[in-house]
Amino acid sequence: MGGFFGVASKKDCVSDVFYGTDYHSHLGTQRGGMATLSDDGNFTHYIHDIRNAQFRSKFEDDLPKMSGNTAIGIISDYEDQPLIINSRHGRYAIVTVGVVQNAQKLEAEACAAGIHFSEMSGNEVNPTELIAHLINQGKDFTDGLTKAQEAVEGSSSILLLTKEGVYAARDRVGRTPVIIGKNENGYAITLETCALPNLQYQIERELGPGEIVRITADGVERMKCPGDCMKICSFLWVYYGYPASTYEGRNTEDVRNECGKRLARRDDVEADCVSGIPDSGTAHAIGYAQESGLPYRRPFVKYTPTWPRSFMPQNQQERNRVAKMKLIPVRELIEGKRLMFCEDSIVRGTQLQDTIERLYTEYGAKEIHMRPACPPLVYGCKFLNFSRSRSIDELATRIAIKELEGEYEHLDEYADASTERYQAMVDKIRERLNLTSLQFQTLEDLVEAIGLPKEKLCTYCWDGEG
Ligand code: SF4
Repeated sequence: MGGFFGVASKKDCVSDVFYGTDYHSHLGTQRGGMATLSDDGNFTHYIHDIRNAQFRSKFEDDLPKMSGNTAIGIISDYEDQPLIINSRHGRYAIVTVGVVQNAQKLEAEACAAGIHFSEMSGNEVNPTELIAHLINQGKDFTDGLTKAQEAVEGSSSILLLTKEGVYAARDRVGRTPVIIGKNENGYAITLETCALPNLQYQIERELGPGEIVRITADGVERMKCPGDCMKICSFLWVYYGYPASTYEGRNTEDVRNECGKRLARRDDVEADCVSGIPDSGTAHAIGYAQESGLPYRRPFVKYTPTWPRSFMPQNQQERNRVAKMKLIPVRELIEGKRLMFCEDSIVRGTQLQDTIERLYTEYGAKEIHMRPACPPLVYGCKFLNFSRSRSIDELATRIAIKELEGEYEHLDEYADASTERYQAMVDKIRERLNLTSLQFQTLEDLVEAIGLPKEKLCTYCWDGEG
């Protein structure tokens, strides 16, 4: 998915952008980048591969070479960013978060009009360069950003570092959040609010869907009003978002606790303890424990000192090994026990299957119950980069549906918890994972836990409505 952070300040802001961007490291594993604009009008930018190293360690040596009162940074899950673009609006640096579903069509149209692209990501045109091309078509930055928002199918939130300040454009329907922070020296713009407090920024306000602003050290100027339609990604609260972050006034940790409570309210299974699969299941499990009265235990402890999330070997076998190495089982808390686990979600279930197998065969668990904090993922995400590396055929739901139907048929029924087909699919997943019981969160409870009206949320993963 990715995340960005920018600052316009009365003072040099390189350090703020360095740490502020680093606080988005959970959102992307491929590339990190920073761009600064110095007092003499020069852009400096660096991009590093962060697959096997933390953002901070990669950029530490670059900091002395960067200076400026305005700067932007990015954690990217795919393409190289920031890009420095020379256009009829002048030079600027650009970072984007989202996915351009219609990239091929936009690229073909641009090439037919005689436009050339130089940056490549994999075998494709760099999506950020494609968006820059759309911006360049506008009569000014605001018009160009509006054109890009309208042309992109998928989602796109954008920061531009320009001589006029930092432009921020939230995705047309607000699929990802964009939030303004303020301190005594100026303004920050961020996807995650968790980046603000330790840098002494207070939350000023959140951009509405499609809204465009320009921040300078002296203030925030609204360049385009927000639209009426919002479809913010619900998965932010379930999994992606950092627990200390708040979007649309709803804190992530709080929502996860509420998800766990709601799972417990619908449950009558007896267990000895409740646990989260580290780290993303933890907050859900704490909520479950609070509501059910079951003790919270850690039968798996994550080895945090040397396993950064971004460590991503190329080979799948090695990736599975890394997933296993991170979690250390505690035999005393597993043997002979009836374990209740909360998970954020079940995507493919492959690693979970291995984990459950180990709990039974190597550590003697008596029963294993699983409570995912969201409904079964029946549809692949087409709005963010979530499923770029995962085929829809690999989803645990799709494997079950194929077994039951031979084809992907009756998806709407499989997504509806009140149908027999839904129950048959859940049973298939439970059997495959060898679980004693499996009960997913209902969509109704998830929406109520988030606390926003359903029409303002993207719930496409679960019910195909986005
Ligand atoms: S499809 Fe799912 S992951 Fe994608 S934006 Fe919608 S809720 Fe978020």
